[in-house]
Amino acid sequence: MAQDCLFCKIIAGEIPATVVYEDDDVVAFKDISPQAPVHVLIVPRAHIERLSDATEADASLLGKIVLAGNRVARLSGVAKSGYRLIANTGPDGGQEVFHVHFHVLGGKRLGRMVS
Ligand code: 5GP
Ligand code: ZN
Repeated sequence: MAQDCLFCKIIAGEIPATVVYEDDDVVAFKDISPQAPVHVLIVPRAHIERLSDATEADASLLGKIVLAGNRVARLSGVAKSGYRLIANTGPDGGQEVFHVHFHVLGGKRLGRMVS
């Protein structure tokens, strides 16, 4: 656990969050400021600051996060309607919390960000 990391504290149960899924590798909890009817954050238990710090050793973990996204979508009822899995990375990517996390957004038609 990294000192002063918000998501490490949520993972440790030191800061409350609404956990919707967890396993040995990841924890998924509702975003405190939802941008869509379904807005869940998936975080690895391991503290990795940003996606650009991930290495080959994290390949399996990153795959598990994507599969956890599928599971969260099913649990949230948006597997069929669809969802978006996003990782904001670094300052230009809009990352505010420096512990890798993927947003699962769904429950409404999301605007296109890339065309
Ligand atoms: P980022 O901008 O780094 O991709 O996303 C950080 C996300 O963390 C934001 O969507 C923000 O609403 C969420 N967040 C910030 N603080 C908390 C918190 O204390 N609890 C929860 N559940 N989400 C948080
Ligand atoms: Zn952390």
